[in-house]
Amino acid sequence: MGTICEWPRTEEYKQTHSLPIPIMVLPIHLYGHDALREEADPVTENTEALQDLIDDMIETMHNAAGIGLAGPQVGRSTRIFVVDVTPMASDMEEEGEEVPPQPMVFINPEIVEEGTSTVDMEEGCLSIPEVREAVTRPDRIRVRYLDRNLEEQELETGSVLARVIQHENDHLDGVLFTDYLSSFRKRLLSRSLRQMKEGNVEADYSLVAAGDEPVPAR
Ligand code: ZN
Repeated sequence: MGTICEWPRTEEYKQTHSLPIPIMVLPIHLYGHDALREEADPVTENTEALQDLIDDMIETMHNAAGIGLAGPQVGRSTRIFVVDVTPMASDMEEEGEEVPPQPMVFINPEIVEEGTSTVDMEEGCLSIPEVREAVTRPDRIRVRYLDRNLEEQELETGSVLARVIQHENDHLDGVLFTDYLSSFRKRLLSRSLRQMKEGNVEADYSLVAAGDEPVPAR
């Protein structure tokens, strides 16, 4: 005779019986979408939903062949970004820079120190497909953050990792790399950016444009 499970289920039951929620690729919000311009809220507690979001964001970044992705880009106003600079690891090592285990998760990050030198580097953004422009930023940073277990970490880095962290950290304050361009460069890009606002752009991954229906959170 079978047994009937009564509520409430114990923690042990949930761990052994609950079906894992499959990891999802989330649609990326496109230039012109309000979600990209909001100041994101800090993470206050570790929940199953947070862990699911982290897994989904890493999957979404890899699916789009990106090296970084921030919460607002998937419509979550949350101070979190993920990074995976594995494709640039050998460049970093050549520059004498240590490459921490990838992918990395940064929660409630804070750039606490910036190098005194600046460097120009070409940037792109999964929310602004096909646009690449040189941006000037500090060459080194020290960042304080929580990892995916909400444990405090601090990292001092340079090279492409410092660049990606600064780019992603900006997303949490509603700042995009195109904001740093000269008015001349912006004018040259204005047609592509206008088309993006209208959702008129092609990418190998799924996008949500400004005028699209909101995507329900799972
Ligand atoms: Zn970006």
